[in-house]
Amino acid sequence: MQATRNRLIFKSPWMNPRSVSHAEFYDPGYLVVCDGHIEELTDIDPRPRLATAEFHDLTGFAILPGFVDTHVHLPQFSYMGIGSKSLPDWLTNYTYPEEARFSDPDYAWRMSEAFFDALIANGPTRACIYCSVHDTATDIAFEVASRKGIRAFIGKTMMDRNAPPPLFETTESSIRASVSLCSRWDGAAGGRLRYVFTPRFAGTCSMDLMRETARIAQQRQAFIQSHLSENEDEVQWIRSLFPERASYTDVYGSAGMLGERTIMAHCVHLADPEVALLAATQTNIVFCPYSNRVLRSGTMPYGKLQAAGLKIALGSDVAAGPSLSMFRQMGEALNSANVKSACLSPAGALYLATLAGADVLGLAGRIGNFEPGKDADFVVVDYDRADPLSGTGHYTAPADILSRLCYNGDSNCVKAVYATGMRVSPP
Ligand SMILES: [Zn+2]
Repeated sequence: MQATRNRLIFKSPWMNPRSVSHAEFYDPGYLVVCDGHIEELTDIDPRPRLATAEFHDLTGFAILPGFVDTHVHLPQFSYMGIGSKSLPDWLTNYTYPEEARFSDPDYAWRMSEAFFDALIANGPTRACIYCSVHDTATDIAFEVASRKGIRAFIGKTMMDRNAPPPLFETTESSIRASVSLCSRWDGAAGGRLRYVFTPRFAGTCSMDLMRETARIAQQRQAFIQSHLSENEDEVQWIRSLFPERASYTDVYGSAGMLGERTIMAHCVHLADPEVALLAATQTNIVFCPYSNRVLRSGTMPYGKLQAAGLKIALGSDVAAGPSLSMFRQMGEALNSANVKSACLSPAGALYLATLAGADVLGLAGRIGNFEPGKDADFVVVDYDRADPLSGTGHYTAPADILSRLCYNGDSNCVKAVYATGMRVSPP
């Protein structure tokens, strides 16, 4: 006997990103979900041929794919919105003291619960997350992520030099703890959870640590995440630490860290040979415009990096970025990318926050938009909250709604979040 299939139909205006320059709009559209996966998205009412499917009328709300936040720090959640100093001061005065508190498992539990509730409530159904250096706190983050239903790449930060004493680890202990976490968690919860090796950045990692991490990640086909060229003072410092290397990017290149499973956040101050090296190695880039503005790090040359063929996604970089809202990141991306010329549209910002993030994580075939067969990850959006006339004015075309969400949207616009067809927020 064939098992009964759980088929659902959601009726709503839909926004379906296809590329950095194109999104499809369905108003109304009907999304058919079967056993957690997308069966079809159509503008023809499918109920006459799918009479037994459970019908959900979400007219009045827009539906977008689940967001992908490709760069966020869990231990920094508590001071989000505080401390807009330059990067070195901010690390010393805010980041390191707070991350040291994660040596206490009770504190790590409390912060992980709060962080994941807030993250999911903002719409991400996938995220790439930094924890502190503590392996127990990282275990806790995985356990909480598993229970909340989010899909996540999570890694223990690695630092074997230039770290304050409470966060310092030896090269061997850092690698041993990371490998152990990878063995416990990579592919856990039915594949929903992945381990990502997380050498913080070249300033706090020895060449030995980076080389061995790259070798192990390659062996395990695991991802690596780190920071690259965020701030001009940082770039000078890295140059002084590695005078034998041609550039900051070349430090990672010589460590073997660059490649299609590597995710480098920021990339604000890159020379042309560095851009070419990132392109040649197919290294992924995370655009963190809100963080870059708040810490006065500079402006990532989005148009230039995109023209070079780099894969670029969007990250909140909480807490340097002061908000978990992907709408806020989309608006900041537009402001940042279009300073000199218009090279990013609202449809492009939606792409960066969804399908591009999926692509960077190697998941473009599984999530990111509403193609049949993909996971039914989506966000139900109360778009009238971003409209000064609450939907009663003349500017209510789908493109107008998307533009407003980029510039005026925030967590208040997120009505519900679904992952593989199951509602994960509100719980
Ligand atoms: Zn960061």
